[in-house]
Amino acid sequence: MSFVKGLRCRECGHEYPVAPTNVCELCFGPVEVVYEYEAISRSISREKITRGPLNMSRYKELLPVDGDIIDIGTGFTPLIRAKHLGKLLRLENLYIKNDCLNPSYSFKDRVVSIAVSKAIEFGFDTLACASTGNLAGAVAAHGAQAGLQSYVFVPANLEPSKLIGASVYGPTLVAVDGDYDQVNRLCSELADRFNWAFVNVNIRPFYAEGSKTLGFEVAEQLGWRAPDYAIVPVASGSLFTKVWKGWQELHSLGLIGPVRTGMYVAQAAGSSPVVNAYEAGKQEVRPVKPNTICKSLAIGNPADGRYVLKILAESGGGAVAVSDDDIVDGMKLLAQTEGIFAETAGGVVTAALRKLAGKKVFPKDAVVVALITGAGYKTLEAVSGHLPPALQIQPTVSSFEEALQKRKAEGKSTA
Ligand SMILES: *Cc1c(COP(=O)(O)O)cnc(C)c1O
Ligand SMILES: [Zn+2]
Repeated sequence: MSFVKGLRCRECGHEYPVAPTNVCELCFGPVEVVYEYEAISRSISREKITRGPLNMSRYKELLPVDGDIIDIGTGFTPLIRAKHLGKLLRLENLYIKNDCLNPSYSFKDRVVSIAVSKAIEFGFDTLACASTGNLAGAVAAHGAQAGLQSYVFVPANLEPSKLIGASVYGPTLVAVDGDYDQVNRLCSELADRFNWAFVNVNIRPFYAEGSKTLGFEVAEQLGWRAPDYAIVPVASGSLFTKVWKGWQELHSLGLIGPVRTGMYVAQAAGSSPVVNAYEAGKQEVRPVKPNTICKSLAIGNPADGRYVLKILAESGGGAVAVSDDDIVDGMKLLAQTEGIFAETAGGVVTAALRKLAGKKVFPKDAVVVALITGAGYKTLEAVSGHLPPALQIQPTVSSFEEALQKRKAEGKSTA
């Protein structure tokens, strides 16, 4: 059994038993999972975690699943010491958490592994989700492994690779003529009519807990500490709030020291409702209509926006928006300094990191962690027109030498 005590409303604090629901009946606020931390503290230790499996089960005490966690190989992704990018940005302790390396190539496998495990415990036989792209693939992949039907709803203008990368697992893929916020509203209505496990609607409280593992891993990989600064891509804000919650939990259990992490939001300028609210000093997020190449973060009305703003205030962090051109440059920079090809969301984070480093926001010896959450092969079109073409040659030495001379004469590569 898990150590879950129940669900609690994040607004009015009312408590509920564990059930597939995401809203408080009294005030319609979102509910979240609460645990028996006393009991957890008697069961958990650094030594026990270190001996555990290199997957989501490693931190099982702090996850809301009673039985086995559905596992397609998610988690314990590398935390890379980014020496070259760090040198360029004058940061001596820069780290990249490379979550491109999950089974469906994004951090969404973490949340879905927990959501699907819980859906099965609740007795659902059908999965569903409203996706900005990566969730679709993660749900469909886990559905295939668990032998469940899945229905994935996406905005019709998604990147082709994300559509194919979901379809291949055999779900019913539904392309909605609308933006993500419309897809999400539709799914909330569908969740009332169909007895399905909508992973980010009625299963959302459990889904969200999966994101904590990204924070747990970073803390463990840094030698049991939270970083001095974290740069986190924000769509609905769930990942951001749960990475923070994860570090607070580790501290309250005595596994790490006090959390003094400056939390930074990274968004695309074409979809930056949280950055706008932060800059205007507001406590609530005003919805926007997204228009950016970073579709995975294109949520105009982020469900967890106000909780992200609270953490920004509490942690003394900040929020940065970057242009689409900066996103492309960020993708190239990360690839060309560290050999990591991330999708547009990784471009957002890298560009935000560069901007913050340029303003000398971080002391040069600070431990800075950038969360890179999805792989570049899913958004090839973002960079394809921005790279030098291949040298076209005949299979002869002279043809190669000629082409090489020509390229050199044209000046250095545009990269
Ligand atoms: C979904 C997603 C995020 C963050 O999503 P939240 O809704 O804020 O939790 C970050 N990066 C990528 C690549 C994503 O697909
Ligand atoms: Zn409430």
